[in-house]
Amino acid sequence: MIIAIDGPAGSGKSTIAREVSRRFGFAKLDTGAMYRSVALTALRRKVDLADENAVAELAQSISITFGAECHGNVSVFVDGQDVSDAIRTPEVDRNVSAAAANAGVRRAMLVPQRLFAEGRDVVAEGRDIGSVVFPHAELKLFLTADPRERARRRVLQRHEGEAVDEGLLSAEIAQTLADIERRDALDSQRAAAPLVCPDDAVRIDSTSFTIEQIVDQIERLIEERR
Ligand code: C5P
Repeated sequence: MIIAIDGPAGSGKSTIAREVSRRFGFAKLDTGAMYRSVALTALRRKVDLADENAVAELAQSISITFGAECHGNVSVFVDGQDVSDAIRTPEVDRNVSAAAANAGVRRAMLVPQRLFAEGRDVVAEGRDIGSVVFPHAELKLFLTADPRERARRRVLQRHEGEAVDEGLLSAEIAQTLADIERRDALDSQRAAAPLVCPDDAVRIDSTSFTIEQIVDQIERLIEERR
């Protein structure tokens, strides 16, 4: 069985996919981590993200693999090197949409994404999972949340366990909100596999539900579709 979870940045896809994977034993595929890995490698090798051919070639030439879970996220490796933390910096946040808008990069990611799901139950999260990667997924979800709430969650996640000044926190939330809105606009308006809610997806607004309530709802949907 394949569960596709799409939605904008910070809508809770990763958390929900992780909980679904834990509760039902599905393998979790974080496709955002793959685009982040391409953007990071381009930045490190000083390949201009505007040079579509060069970035597409780079995407084809690297091997992106996943390892064990670390701090709630699956570890990510590029050519065997652990990039789990390096792909989550603000610099990668700012540059990833350019890499993801590249049609050649998307073609290069499609084969490993589909191979990952062969012969097992998978929960995959991203922007084009239900529309392009797994159009025949048994269950498609489209997660949304109020943009301010999404920014707040991102910032709190970043400072988990730290004591941070309220003023600094709200300034960071405002900056994160602007970044999220910019990224959503780029991801929704691009020509190649834009962020869309597939017609047959179940829309869930996560703003006012707990993680457990959402996963309970998914459990009922899984039972219906098995
Ligand atoms: O989900 P995450 O925030 O890690 O995704 C990072 C970026 O990767 C997105 O902003 C988007 O540009 C790109 N992406 C994509 N298609 C996917 C998953 C992510 O274009 N299926």
